[in-house]
Amino acid sequence: WKGPLRKVDEWRWLIPRDYKKGMRTDGLIYASERMIRDIRKDQAPEQVANVACLPGIVGKSLAMPDIHWGYGFPIGGVAATRVEDGVISPGGVGFDINCGVRMLVTSLEEKEVRPVLDRLLRVLFRNIPSGVGSEGRISFSVSELRKVMEQGAQYIVKRGWGLPEDTECTEEQGAMPGANPDKVSQKAIERGKDQLGSLGSGNHFLEIEVVETVFRPDVAEMFGLFKSQVVVMIHTGSRGFGHQICTDSLNVMQSAMRKYGISLPDRQLACAPFNSEEGKAYFESMVCAANFAWANRQLITHWVRESFEEVFGKSAQELGIRVLYDVAHNIAKLEEHEVEGERVKVVVHRKGATRAFGPGHPVLPQRYRNIGQPVLIPGDMGTGSFVLVGTERAMQETFGSTCHGAGRMMSRSEADRRSRGRDIAQEMEAKGVLVLAESKATLREEIPEAYKDVSQVVEVVDRAGLSRKVVYARPLGVIKG
Ligand code: 5GP
Ligand code: MN
Ligand code: MN
Repeated sequence: WKGPLRKVDEWRWLIPRDYKKGMRTDGLIYASERMIRDIRKDQAPEQVANVACLPGIVGKSLAMPDIHWGYGFPIGGVAATRVEDGVISPGGVGFDINCGVRMLVTSLEEKEVRPVLDRLLRVLFRNIPSGVGSEGRISFSVSELRKVMEQGAQYIVKRGWGLPEDTECTEEQGAMPGANPDKVSQKAIERGKDQLGSLGSGNHFLEIEVVETVFRPDVAEMFGLFKSQVVVMIHTGSRGFGHQICTDSLNVMQSAMRKYGISLPDRQLACAPFNSEEGKAYFESMVCAANFAWANRQLITHWVRESFEEVFGKSAQELGIRVLYDVAHNIAKLEEHEVEGERVKVVVHRKGATRAFGPGHPVLPQRYRNIGQPVLIPGDMGTGSFVLVGTERAMQETFGSTCHGAGRMMSRSEADRRSRGRDIAQEMEAKGVLVLAESKATLREEIPEAYKDVSQVVEVVDRAGLSRKVVYARPLGVIKG
């Protein structure tokens, strides 16, 4: 990408609004000088400029350091549009609606888990369905599925698969308001019905990790995190259900653009006024998919507890298994933010970006109210993950948002090409990480080199003040679809 990037400071790069006809605001990319070179390698910065053309956008068109090319919006993109006269765009959410991450903490230490790691991983692999088109272990009727759409993870807990505390420590308490199952197609229901309680494939994973570095002991303590502690990270979304809802909406949005006279530089940015029939229908069905994803991560949590119980012969409670937090990183949210000194109701699109609300925010659970929310940032299967904490600065600058991962550096096909003939599971084992996967081919698309260096990504958002590093956790074992 050859366009202009004006250096604001060490961590901020501006695409001025006069770069391109139709831009209503500036673009702003958070990155280090070193990372910018890689970011210029694809057309993702052009997508940041395109997003700046959305009707009703407020603030800047933002991108996090894990930015890479995506459908319409870049992955790592954040854009807020006014509820009153702005648009909502499915490309700003992505196909895997409410793809997200949940972290479970335990009271176990590495030395207790190491000796049984192999068995633990196998039990988890058996208990949690994974792989392309994988199906859950419980079959849900259509009327039960409607409850999932409306009540998300809370419905799963009501059925006995979890604890009330689980949803307290979940974004939106695992049940985002505004769902309307009548707006969900038969096809989406058909695809989703049997997939609830499954991991899926590719980038989705379940990982056993050990806390290796504590950056902020005070915050770590309040999060219940300590060095040598074993934690579990679950990364999955709304499976075929959300994918179908996104697909369904794209056709509708294309004709809505003509109907409302909206023209944009990229047809993948298809959108409709939030306050139109089409905009509302998309939002209401998107909420159904978001709640499905929270229900999915909740069911998987239940099976993680059962697996640990089986292997350690103790109750999940005795093992201290608790949800640290659960965050969405592909979603559009109705929020109120201060923009140029005024409180404005906005639709915050976070596409490969995580909410990072700071201390004092009223939607945070009591437990984290005074410190800010936990932010969960996976790296790659060889590297593990970071936990960060939301900040006031993020509230002021990025609508309370930060990065969501390391971000891809190679396309799947390039990763596949470069890893041909290699035994990735064996390579990982040599590095001390046990890997179980449904498919060897997906594993090759997921090689650590395919991703950016997560510690660099996290360094940028930390130094820019969008979220602060709390701990780093190294992987012990990974399950991939
Ligand atoms: P996405 O949802 O955008 O595909 O993925 C989120 C992030 O998860 C990626 O950007 C990548 O950094 C991270 N990731 C993908 N696979 C793994 C894995 O197996 N383990 C860990 N810890 N992180 C992963
Ligand atoms: Mn994801
Ligand atoms: Mn996903």
